[in-house]
Amino acid sequence: MTTYYLHPIPLSCDFRDNSRMPISLETQMSRYLSPICSIFMAFLLLPGTAHAQQNFDKVEIKTEKLSPTTYVLFGAGGNIGVSAGEDALFIIDDQYAPVNPKILAALKQISDKPVKFVLNTHWHGDHTGGNEIMGKAGGLIVAHDNVRKRMSAEQFIALFKSKVAPSPKVALPVVTFSTDVTFHLNGDEVYGFHVPNAHTDGDTVVHFRKSNVIHMGDTFFSGMYPFIDGSSGGSPEGVIAAADRVLAIADDNTKIIPGHGPVSNKADLKNYRDMLAAVSVRVKALVREGKKVEEILAANPSAQFDEKWGKGFINPRGFIEMLVAIYSS
Ligand SMILES: [Zn+2]
Repeated sequence: MTTYYLHPIPLSCDFRDNSRMPISLETQMSRYLSPICSIFMAFLLLPGTAHAQQNFDKVEIKTEKLSPTTYVLFGAGGNIGVSAGEDALFIIDDQYAPVNPKILAALKQISDKPVKFVLNTHWHGDHTGGNEIMGKAGGLIVAHDNVRKRMSAEQFIALFKSKVAPSPKVALPVVTFSTDVTFHLNGDEVYGFHVPNAHTDGDTVVHFRKSNVIHMGDTFFSGMYPFIDGSSGGSPEGVIAAADRVLAIADDNTKIIPGHGPVSNKADLKNYRDMLAAVSVRVKALVREGKKVEEILAANPSAQFDEKWGKGFINPRGFIEMLVAIYSS
């Protein structure tokens, strides 16, 4: 069987992981993607990696400063949070191996210090694909216990029908934790806490307490319907609970870094949380009534939200089918 490659969660569908996400042509991914993403996915499904490499070649890393010591890097894959200062570089997530040289160059513009710590918000390849390079360069990789467990064995993402190979040892988290962890560096207190069964079963939200910045990983897709990886232990209720936890500690000045999308604020997160709560409650009720997926789609439970939220990575149909799958399992 010919194998094709992609990563599960693009930011804008213009980049590919050619190393960690084998899928087969039987994939039904295009059904779930917004039209613009489908175009890129069709391109992606051409055999060969030259195209994928070319796409990575075009990736630009953009840096946004959020406080005197915190930054976010946008590139290909999950948004990278950075703490920089007198002690070391600390980064949250590391996107893909092919873009790592560009990430390191962008970090060099911020600080000459080496990357001492990498915290993975969860196991997906668009957040951990650079671990191998960061690990070999001496970065200490930290994550929730379940991130190491999932990266150590083959995984299957049901929504995309994609298998993910185990990661090499050097890419695995060296320090793992079950509930929370605090880093004291660069004059900040960087507090990472686990939010159970949200986007996956290994999500960490990171609060830069002194900088008033929060990185939510993929528990927050800003401005678009989220992907919730039910096959990795994720659940809509867990995502809503994670949002509630962040809403309880954020104020109106807090800068919130989503896993995908632009830097946002508390009001943006509240809108996202309320949208997800409204749609998931409706879908759950329809599934409990014994309705079939086509009947649920016909009932259009996300109609009022599609214009605003349905043009990102996952289209309205994909979002509803994902929720039906989660509530049917
Ligand atoms: Zn993810």
